[in-house]
Amino acid sequence: MPTTTPGHPSDAHRPDHDPSGPLPLAAGVAAAAQVARAADHDGEVATYIAPLAEVDPSRFALAVSELDGTEHLDGDVEVPFAIQSVSKVYSLVLALQAADAGSGVEEELWCRVGREPSGDPFNSLVQLERERGLPRNPMINAGALVVDDVLLDHLDDPVAATCELLSELCGEDIGLDERVLRAEQGSSHRNRSLAHLMADFGNLRNDVEVVLDSYIGACAIAMSSRQLARATRFLANGGIDPASGRRVLAPPLARRVAAVMLTCGTYDAAGEFAFSVGLPCKSGVAGSIVALVPGRLAACAWSPPLDPAGNSVAGRIALHELAERCELSVF
Ligand code: GLU
Repeated sequence: MPTTTPGHPSDAHRPDHDPSGPLPLAAGVAAAAQVARAADHDGEVATYIAPLAEVDPSRFALAVSELDGTEHLDGDVEVPFAIQSVSKVYSLVLALQAADAGSGVEEELWCRVGREPSGDPFNSLVQLERERGLPRNPMINAGALVVDDVLLDHLDDPVAATCELLSELCGEDIGLDERVLRAEQGSSHRNRSLAHLMADFGNLRNDVEVVLDSYIGACAIAMSSRQLARATRFLANGGIDPASGRRVLAPPLARRVAAVMLTCGTYDAAGEFAFSVGLPCKSGVAGSIVALVPGRLAACAWSPPLDPAGNSVAGRIALHELAERCELSVF
């Protein structure tokens, strides 16, 4: 059953809905979920580790969290899953925070990882070899490993810091899925290869195994779609957590994170996402996709079966339907 929970009463005023204009969010979420559910068996669940291969493919959730705290929820919104590559967003946020307070984001981060879509699979070794160990962007695995390397220059335990940030942002305790963690530790051969290749080109400073532990730990963070939507609102709010008013990231840096999500956040289907959804998004291989509507809300769709690019099939449909019906596209 879809539910809507109001935010703070002082924030509740909205202009009356024009019936010829966009649908209100509550109706948009319900309608988008209904359309997307019809596709929740299309695609294939990730099978590279048992905990992902064994997930119930009919799980589906759509959660919207407005800046005033109002939530619109449909489906399995309380069921936790490993956030996988969605963690790359929060690792980037922490690295930008640390570099901004250190010797600067250009010097510490952007000279070591680019901001261009890769056009190659998220874990491709070929491009990295051709481009001498410089990853295309922080949303692919190689780029995230560099981000983790930057974090390790500043933090003792980047995974704990990421959990702490996410706990603060969603107001609930966030930890790791230990089963996913152990499975990833035993199967990260390609990520290990990416890390060693970059170390060989001089683009990793910390011990390769320590960087990998950090990367793998972040992938195993477990959250529900409701928690993810809530925790991502600060990026739709110029870097300020709307719940506490704390500035998590300076506004220009928050804009950069959103820009990288739009251009690089959905593997090599970012062009298709910009075309059909029109929002900064980041997807993960467990089937979640977070999305931002600047100045208004964050959303998370979750359905485990993936398309060949690695994005949730029903998740993409849900976000497309929501953006169309409620006219949320940034374009
Ligand atoms: N743990 C996965 C990997 O590194 C994450 C991939 C993803 O979600 O895109 O291969």
